[in-house]
Amino acid sequence: LQKNPLTYSGGGVTLTDGTRMQLLANIGNAKDAEKAAAAHADGVGLFRTEFLFLDREDEPSVAEQQKAYAAVFSHFVGKKVVVRTIDAGADKPLPFLTDADEPNPALGVRAYRTSWEKRSVLTNQLDAIAAAAAESDAKAWVMAPMISTVEDVQDFIGMCRERGISPAGIMVETPSAAVTADRCLAECDFASIGTNDLTQYTMAADRMLGSLAHLNNPWQPAVLSLVGATCTGARAAGGDPEAFGDSANKPVGVCGEAAGDPALAVVLVGLGVNSLSMTPRSLPAVATVLATVSLEEAQRLAQVAVSARTADEGRDAVRAALPIME
Ligand code: PEP
Ligand code: MG
Repeated sequence: LQKNPLTYSGGGVTLTDGTRMQLLANIGNAKDAEKAAAAHADGVGLFRTEFLFLDREDEPSVAEQQKAYAAVFSHFVGKKVVVRTIDAGADKPLPFLTDADEPNPALGVRAYRTSWEKRSVLTNQLDAIAAAAAESDAKAWVMAPMISTVEDVQDFIGMCRERGISPAGIMVETPSAAVTADRCLAECDFASIGTNDLTQYTMAADRMLGSLAHLNNPWQPAVLSLVGATCTGARAAGGDPEAFGDSANKPVGVCGEAAGDPALAVVLVGLGVNSLSMTPRSLPAVATVLATVSLEEAQRLAQVAVSARTADEGRDAVRAALPIME
């Protein structure tokens, strides 16, 4: 591969057998959205909405939120923007929403779970997203983080449906959601796998601890098995191929850091994911490597990585088969 890959030109990447893959961006605000659009991202696979809520004593008003979401949507006319509802707690405490005294915040009342006690923060946010989506030309998709049961899915999707929000989906960040993906996906429109948290929870290793970095590695075969299980579950859950233009199954994306690692991106595609969302600067390298493989080759490499004895052995074997740049 050349040292300076071409910039990504957008419109999806085509594998050698003609399979198309959407490459999306992870963003946190309108400035990021502008940069992602300039980098030709095919849309946004993860809009982290926390920026509006952090470092404040009170909840932002619905009007303020609506304006902020509309500003992001304005950069992606006709394209999809997957908005993730507030992911507070654990490493992102919020005085008006989370309990700073929990003994194990990563396993506590975080993200979607905060709506059990204080429902209005989430319903206000959904009102703001729905209003911003109604006045914009972007395709707004909405999903909740830290979903672990079918009841969680039903509860969240119910809130979305009441507001006419569609498509509405879930993040798969817990092993329980991955293992029961067929049942969870049957209740909603799509899933996006958050490999950062899925890795933390699969490996029982705090993602904030540098000393556990070797465990917080999405090449861990156990993590990749759960990504595969999620895709298998999504196929079992069926779906309408015409509904959202992505695939015959309920669409499954990956929006954790793993999606921006070109060799791992090949494995994720081979495991059955339909879109990859990453920091915009990873788009060119991921597109360049994906364009060198067929779906069948990606599936073969996915099997190599899933059945490897260790994360390092899997990664080395996959990388050796690909024209990866250093
Ligand atoms: C993830 O967990 O992989 C994810 C994308 O969400 P965050 O990194 O914001 O927790
Ligand atoms: Mg997460």
